[in-house]
Amino acid sequence: MPVYTLPELPYDYAALAPHISARIMELHHSKHHQAYVTGANAALEQLAEAREAGELGMVNKLEKDLAFNLGGHVNHSVFWQNMSPDGGGSPDGELAAAIDDGFGSFEAFRAHFTATALGVQGSGWAVLAWDGVGGRPVVLQLFDQQGNAPLGVIPLLQLDVWEHAYYLDYQNVRADYVAAFWNVVNWPDVAARLDRARAATAGLIVAGAS
Ligand code: MN
Repeated sequence: MPVYTLPELPYDYAALAPHISARIMELHHSKHHQAYVTGANAALEQLAEAREAGELGMVNKLEKDLAFNLGGHVNHSVFWQNMSPDGGGSPDGELAAAIDDGFGSFEAFRAHFTATALGVQGSGWAVLAWDGVGGRPVVLQLFDQQGNAPLGVIPLLQLDVWEHAYYLDYQNVRADYVAAFWNVVNWPDVAARLDRARAATAGLIVAGAS
């Protein structure tokens, strides 16, 4: 029985054009994201079979398969919601205050996040996340779908910089894709994620931490 399922997009495939084309959105959602969902379910099933058979010789492969594919499912599920045809601009309210506190200013955050996205070597993501231990936002560079991030941070804003995310539209010019991304960022979604993360993670990892 599948545990993970492909979520519907909150907008049409063409809704983010010209910043991200309908062709990329359709392939990215219906093929790439679906493959991570299928892969995560397959990894869980194979781990269950291995446990039941008492044959755990493939555990290293299966654990990597689970982390990679579940990571892909989580990352894309956040990414789709982080974008909107009515997006762009800059955040306000509590999110703007948290960004100012954490990074100095929105402009400084945007430069930091952009450099993080442009600097990913190979495939990966730029991530704005809430660190409930420090009680602050952090920018992280995620390798592939699962590497280089500590456990326990909650993603607020994610940008996919795998080549499948932009190559049909922007070829090798990742910088143009990242610049276009800022036109579709759904700041109300990011702000709502911050509210939930703050409320739910205080003391969750380290007792007494904010
Ligand atoms: Mn992707």
